[in-house]
Amino acid sequence: MEIANCKECGRLYQRVSREICPECLRNEEALFSRVKEYIRAHGHASIPEICGVIDISEEKLMKFMRDGRLISTNAVDYPCERCGKPIRSGKMCEKCQANLQAALSQAARKIDQAAGSKEGPSYYSRRK
Ligand SMILES: [Zn+2]
Ligand SMILES: [Zn+2]
Repeated sequence: MEIANCKECGRLYQRVSREICPECLRNEEALFSRVKEYIRAHGHASIPEICGVIDISEEKLMKFMRDGRLISTNAVDYPCERCGKPIRSGKMCEKCQANLQAALSQAARKIDQAAGSKEGPSYYSRRK
């Protein structure tokens, strides 16, 4: 067992597996169950809404989201990674996902073209 500083409150504690001390872990669990309760009672909710009702920072709420603990409920809007538009699942909104797909396939085409112009048969035939 090692002694570590709690990431949350900075106190020294005996580190087991978490990066926060048992007390902060209890607080976090309590917050988490309040958020879950709220979603269960009210259905769909946005992050600012939850933060307004429950004494939780957006940062912490986002951490819950990122941990995947709230995403499964599909009941909370959180911002799209690219444009910030509220979404309920995945990392990006549909539009950004489509844009990314288009950009990726365009990039792939460019690579193909670049490879083709260097190693294509016309290049070799002209050189010979
Ligand atoms: Zn702590
Ligand atoms: Zn987006």
